[in-house]
Amino acid sequence: NADAAMYRAKSSGKMNFQFYTEELTKNAIERMSLEADLHDAISNNELHIHYQPQIDIKQGRVVAVEALLRWFHPKLGPVSPDKFIPLAEEIGLIEDIGTWVLREACAQFKRWQAGGLTIQTLAVNVSNRQLQKGNFPELVKTILDESELGASHLELEITESMLLENPEFAVQQLHQLKKLGATIAIDDFGTGYSSLSYLKKLPIHKLKIDKSFINDIGNNGDDNAITEAIIAMSERLSLDVIAEGVETENQESFLLQNGCNNVQGFHYCKPLPATEVSSYISAKRLNPKS
Ligand code: C2E
Ligand code: MG
Ligand code: MG
Ligand code: MG
Repeated sequence: NADAAMYRAKSSGKMNFQFYTEELTKNAIERMSLEADLHDAISNNELHIHYQPQIDIKQGRVVAVEALLRWFHPKLGPVSPDKFIPLAEEIGLIEDIGTWVLREACAQFKRWQAGGLTIQTLAVNVSNRQLQKGNFPELVKTILDESELGASHLELEITESMLLENPEFAVQQLHQLKKLGATIAIDDFGTGYSSLSYLKKLPIHKLKIDKSFINDIGNNGDDNAITEAIIAMSERLSLDVIAEGVETENQESFLLQNGCNNVQGFHYCKPLPATEVSSYISAKRLNPKS
């Protein structure tokens, strides 16, 4: 009857509501404890860096490695950077974490060089708050000096969106970094909103085609066109270009056909712990392709 139906609706509504607030509370608590744990992650030695090779397929050799931060949480296990990097940015921890990454990666790269490993470039991701800090170029210089790493070996990866907020200052910072001798790559290229005329004025030297475009090569006509256009544009602007997220032979042939020889992706190698990098590079005989 009607009363019973009303009663059921009300009580289930109440239950949904209760469930909803419980979920919210659970998420908020999870987030707060993740925040608290992230504060101690450096001092507890829970952060480490993996390195993913970048390969010149024409030459058949590893030309660079990208430093990718990893957090192994004592209870949760590995936490994805897509989760904890934005959190670190929000709560103002990214400067400390970013400095740690830069210092650690430069020191590691120097050890590889000293051990006779010849990789040209170390790529390190930089977040907006780091770039917007007034002393960032000096910090980079200090770390390069400390590690005795030549600046020309360091490539800093930034994203287009970082140039939207406070663009004049950001560009000024890029000029300072370039003066030091470091190079700048635009990461996840194609997902932001930079105009071509603007791009031409920036002191950058490389575009990294976002993996979402590479992912659909062969399945999606638009993405083929976008990838082709970015490659052609890089050439016209005399910029280097690299494709990230290359997973298949098919994607590789498409890139080669269109003149993009530099690649990074699971098809070649996943991000590796530092201890496995030199054995990967020396063991792997890549076949040069024409
Ligand atoms: P990103 O800089 O664009 O790095 C590339 C991401 O793609 C990495 O994810 C890498 O593991 C993944 N990847 C590489 N090859 C393939 C592939 O073939 N297929 C697929 N599906 N993925 C591939 P990861 O390591 O999870 O990092 C995610 C993002 O977190 C990075 O994207 C970067 O934006 C950020 N990040 C990582 N380390 C740092 C850091 O030290 N500082 C800052 N600020 N951000 C970082
Ligand atoms: Mg990157
Ligand atoms: Mg990327
Ligand atoms: Mg990314």
